[in-house]
Amino acid sequence: ATAATAAMVWFRKGLRVHDNPALDAARRYEAGAGAASARLYPVFVLDPRYLRPDPVASSPGSARAVVARIRFLLESLSDLDARLRRLGSRLLLLRARDDVADAVCAALKDWNIGKLCFESDTEPYAQARDKKVTDFALASGIEVFTPVSHTLFDPAEIIKKNGGRPPLTYQSFVSIAGEPPDPAMEEYSELPPLGDTGEYELLPVPTVEELGYGDISQEEIPPFRGGETEALRRMKESLQNKEWVAKFEKPKGDPSAFLKPSTTVLSPYLKFGCLSSRYFYHCIQDVYKSVRNHTKPPVSLIGQLLWRDFFYTVSYGTPNFDRMKGNKICKQIPWKENEELFVAWRDGQTGYPWIDAIMIQLRKWGWMHHLARHSVACFLTRGDMFIHWEKGRDVFERLLIDSDWAINNGNWLWLSCSSFFYQYHRIYSPITFGKKYDPNGNYIRHFIPVLKDMPREYIYEPWTAPISIQKKANCIIGKDYPKPVVDHETASKECRKRMGEAYASSRLDANPTKGKTLNSSR
Ligand code: FAD
Repeated sequence: ATAATAAMVWFRKGLRVHDNPALDAARRYEAGAGAASARLYPVFVLDPRYLRPDPVASSPGSARAVVARIRFLLESLSDLDARLRRLGSRLLLLRARDDVADAVCAALKDWNIGKLCFESDTEPYAQARDKKVTDFALASGIEVFTPVSHTLFDPAEIIKKNGGRPPLTYQSFVSIAGEPPDPAMEEYSELPPLGDTGEYELLPVPTVEELGYGDISQEEIPPFRGGETEALRRMKESLQNKEWVAKFEKPKGDPSAFLKPSTTVLSPYLKFGCLSSRYFYHCIQDVYKSVRNHTKPPVSLIGQLLWRDFFYTVSYGTPNFDRMKGNKICKQIPWKENEELFVAWRDGQTGYPWIDAIMIQLRKWGWMHHLARHSVACFLTRGDMFIHWEKGRDVFERLLIDSDWAINNGNWLWLSCSSFFYQYHRIYSPITFGKKYDPNGNYIRHFIPVLKDMPREYIYEPWTAPISIQKKANCIIGKDYPKPVVDHETASKECRKRMGEAYASSRLDANPTKGKTLNSSR
């Protein structure tokens, strides 16, 4: 065989040019002595696991990624391609017939690659996929470089420092973690020349329609556009207001603010790696340097990024992290099966406007405020319905544009009082919690238009409105909008009782943080 003269950077997450150590290593690749100057192959492979549209694309019960997230991904790919083109390169978009690993291995061989670079990914699906590719590459004499750049810290490193086990409290995590490495922000104006792709069919970035997502012209397009360019713009815009950054205190934000959300909405950009968390961290530190006082972890903006790393680390070091059975840090709770209640929750039909508006925002936008997520997760599980957190997790996993395996599972474990947080008697009221922030119910009126003319005093409890008022508001409860599917007072009492019994019978032997509430301030 001829000497390898090319490097491949394989994009998966990390859809950016800034702070991208895998891209950096690939562009620095030097072919062996006497060889022509090295070529670069920047590759992304469309994965049918996520992309195959459903026969019923809008079916709420479907397991596939929702179209809004696919659109966000495609926008991110277009932006990445444009940014690579500005550096004299481009994105080589391939489509895997079924297995992404097979497609990458074939390209490695056909293009005579000497070095393969990709960002390390801790999710179980990615681990298996990447192992297959790495094994193939090493066996073929290809050098492999897999830097950690999706998170601030290397989860494996933290687990090692903690004696082989992941730290299970935020505080212990933070004290072990220390300061993250600086982002690699070296500027350059050119990438090495593109390698020859021979017979390969290169795709232009498709539209969602071209991918087979039926008629979506009627769907509301979420107000967040994908891509590194938008991520950097959005981050700058958020950080411009130094006072806001300095005073950021997570539990105090307004979950009902939707026109101008009270947090950064950078989560989808961090999820796809359009924004580097290390660069974000670094820019927040710069703001801190220019103000006199600022909030601290866990409630500060930096504190939020540490939560992200915390869940990444715990999820990486915990077998069966994404389920109750076989998961050592998860309390074993005899959740109830109730398909009717579950469907009402999933489809925003519980009869509690605060809960339903959040679930409709989830369906339409793929993003909701953190405390809104708290409200609906609590309601489904230990608050009102006593339904398994895994069922709620699945719905979020499909519908969120920021859907993230480690963070989503971690937060569902938390909210259901299955792990990390155990104050199960503290239940969010589906009536008074939202009212505190938004007494007029503007959030509800926006996402549930049928309630838009319901007078303010009934907007959180429309079933209590006299029939004459319901008629005047053009919304008859039980006909135009559902009656409550559970009575919060009795349901929450029953849930507390069941949680108490489950806790008593499990005794939590396996849980080293039992009884403590170290993680309570988020
Ligand atoms: P900001 O408050 O501006 O925070 C900045 C960044 O910090 C976020 O973008 C995110 O990356 C990180 N962050 C913030 N809160 C948390 C947290 N509690 N845990 C871990 N990281 C955090 N977030 C996801 O990114 N993906 C998910 O799939 C996801 N599922 C969730 C499920 C439930 C049940 C709950 C309660 C929360 C979930 N979160 C998830 C965490 C959190 O709600 C979102 O990260 C946050 O609301 C995103 O908005 P933001 O970017 O404006 O956050």
